[in-house]
Amino acid sequence: MDLDLARDAVVRYGTLLEQRGLVFGTGGNLSVRCGDGLWALKPSGFPCGALRADDVAVLDMEGRHLKGGKPSSEWRMHLEILKANPKVGAVFHTHSRFAATLACLKWEVPAVHYYLAAFGDEYIPVVPYRPFGSQELALEAARAMSSGVKGVLLANHGAVVAGETPEEAFDLAVNLEFLCEVYWRARSVGTPATLSREQFKEALEGFTSYRHGARSS
Ligand code: 13P
Ligand code: ZN
Repeated sequence: MDLDLARDAVVRYGTLLEQRGLVFGTGGNLSVRCGDGLWALKPSGFPCGALRADDVAVLDMEGRHLKGGKPSSEWRMHLEILKANPKVGAVFHTHSRFAATLACLKWEVPAVHYYLAAFGDEYIPVVPYRPFGSQELALEAARAMSSGVKGVLLANHGAVVAGETPEEAFDLAVNLEFLCEVYWRARSVGTPATLSREQFKEALEGFTSYRHGARSS
């Protein structure tokens, strides 16, 4: 993806995140990798849904700010996740309500629903609380994702998802919120059943062919 397309994707998916109620005010941010060692990132202090392509910050893989607005305060977290896994093409950080609620409870999300398999691991982990924008938070989030899991909760903060494309990252952000809501609702009224290892493995295999059928952006 070239730089202009990556900046446009930040604008487009920023709007979609806000429309879906996954970010509020100036909270949350998103990044999209370009092919030439550069990446595009939401500027700091802007609502995700009110960006213009020229505002979108452009950085290199050393974290140097090359153009656009002041990079999001979470640029270190985006960079560490992008550096750790070359397959990751987009990182979305949300403050969505149910994910943030479980993150405050420090509840990991187990395989209560088959869609968890889209995240590639048997549960969504909780990253310990660290100050927003800190290198400590960046390293903890990247470490939690090093298992290959595509989404994590950030204690007392929100969530982060990482997809190969912005389209996948958006699907993960929407579905992480869905999983957190379903888990919270199920636990509110009973003891949720979780998938067995075998059932989870089957769902994981199902997602391999499911993803291959998806459009890429
Ligand atoms: P920015 O406006 O700097 O992106 O910060 C929002 C946020 O969610 C910090 O965690
Ligand atoms: Zn945040």
